[in-house]
Amino acid sequence: MIEIKDLHKSYRTGSTSLHVLKGINFSVKEGELVAIMGSSGSGKSTLLNILGMLDGYDEGSYHLDNVLIKDLNETKAANYRNKFLGFIFQSFNLINYKTAWENVSLPLYYQGVGRKERKERAIAYLDSVGLKPWVEHLPNELSGGQKQRVAIARAMAAEPKVLLADEPTGALDSVTSHEVMALIQKINDEGRTILVVTHEEDIAHMCKRIVHLKDGVIVSDEVVEQQRVEANV
Ligand code: ADP
Ligand code: MG
Repeated sequence: MIEIKDLHKSYRTGSTSLHVLKGINFSVKEGELVAIMGSSGSGKSTLLNILGMLDGYDEGSYHLDNVLIKDLNETKAANYRNKFLGFIFQSFNLINYKTAWENVSLPLYYQGVGRKERKERAIAYLDSVGLKPWVEHLPNELSGGQKQRVAIARAMAAEPKVLLADEPTGALDSVTSHEVMALIQKINDEGRTILVVTHEEDIAHMCKRIVHLKDGVIVSDEVVEQQRVEANV
């Protein structure tokens, strides 16, 4: 599904250059649930942004579903993103003036699905994350955990091949974090490939494999016994 070979990335600002990813080799098969761990500044978000086609890289190669992702123009990148990827962010990134169902229906809008079908499908996705009673509510009427569940429903609405989550529990208390991870486990149980960036050890152990990044290199990559969490939603 994902194949990365000797990937390098530097950020250039003025005359200085910061070498952030220093030869990453990494592959992910369909159906995996992978945690990417590492301390702040180790390059986790940089790697996830490259995987998500939100940013480019300097050297090496990245194949997603056997397509080489390199030097894509913005239109092509957007097309591949819509086709392949779903995103979940620490800060939820919901649109504040749109209701829960409207937020979830956005990827369907970009796919050209009509309004009636969009609403039906958005409500079904919200139902699957336990938010049926909240479909007409605005984000500011929802708790943090509920907002993240809306964001997960939105990511799923595009039926992505891969779900990329950057610190999805970073803004949540531990009970709510576990609920979000229970949902991520459920989605992975259904066969979805998911990558979760986290710096929390307990969250990483709710995945099936842990990749440790340190100073832009992978220092360990291990299969772990998954700690299961139950959702009370
Ligand atoms: P992490 O997500 O592991 O905390 P990041 O990938 O966000 O780490 O950042 C890795 C390093 O790259 C940090 O030193 C950070 O300051 C730097 N960095 C991140 N994004 C940019 C950018 N857009 N421009 C310049 N430097 C950046
Ligand atoms: Mg980060």
